[in-house]
Amino acid sequence: MNKVLTAIDNSGSFRVYLTISTDLVEEARQIHQTTPLGTAALGRVLTGAGLMGLLLKNDRDKLTVIFKGDGPAKQILATANAHGEVKGYIANPDVDLPLRPDGKLDVGGSLGIGELTVIKDLGLKEPFIGTIALASGEIAEDLTAYYYISEQQNSAISLGVKVETDYTVGAAGGMIIQLLPDFKDEAVDALESMLASLAPITTLIDEVNAEGTVLSEEGKVKLLADKIFAGMPEEFGIRALDMREIKWECDCSEERLEKALMTIGVQDLTEIIEEDGQAEMVCQFCLKKYLFDKEHLERILESIK
Ligand code: ZN
Repeated sequence: MNKVLTAIDNSGSFRVYLTISTDLVEEARQIHQTTPLGTAALGRVLTGAGLMGLLLKNDRDKLTVIFKGDGPAKQILATANAHGEVKGYIANPDVDLPLRPDGKLDVGGSLGIGELTVIKDLGLKEPFIGTIALASGEIAEDLTAYYYISEQQNSAISLGVKVETDYTVGAAGGMIIQLLPDFKDEAVDALESMLASLAPITTLIDEVNAEGTVLSEEGKVKLLADKIFAGMPEEFGIRALDMREIKWECDCSEERLEKALMTIGVQDLTEIIEEDGQAEMVCQFCLKKYLFDKEHLERILESIK
């Protein structure tokens, strides 16, 4: 369970969604056994999608973000809902590349040239689908570009994952700053100069963990917000609105995978029954295995004939 601070500035110019998502990203790493590069890439996508889920307006809304490129990671997909439940996977969890010249994991290189697609299911007949070319493949920049191009929404997004030498997640976090319709131009200037000199979010989280050892999870996110916005002019200082949560949650079930089996068609299903006598289905998000025996497969076959 990772806390998300939502806040608004004193002038009503922008809203902030800020989280320390270390647990969420570590859980994903343990499930998918990702390399450090895979952990950084998937962790940024999960954190970004989790925060974007909280921006959805209605209870039953959900969204899917898909990063697809010609690089070795191939594809990273995450889904999230308005309750902060997030799940995702990376097509190639073994992805590995040399570090960038600045010593950082090469997330952009792992995706290469490609596209970002965001699918929003808002309970309408058709989902809203927006696709843009990847800006850099570094995830935060791509999501910022998506909001600007597809939703005409000005925002600033930061995402970060620090992987320790033992491959565990040392720190992960993310922030979305969204400009509100009645923003003041001076607020944009103040945000720009703040963001230009801001340390990486994982560096700030390391500081919070070092200074705030006795703090609750909520207290740590608040301390992180203080560090980020401390230098802002009083008029654009922030006040907390709400404390929410994001967490890893897979809602797969036998019924869901049954539906997947139904879509393969009478001919293929008959073949599986005759040749294998059973089928093992794996949830691509949490890797849980579901075994369908012959009798079960025959029941499914009957239902689609
Ligand atoms: Zn699952």
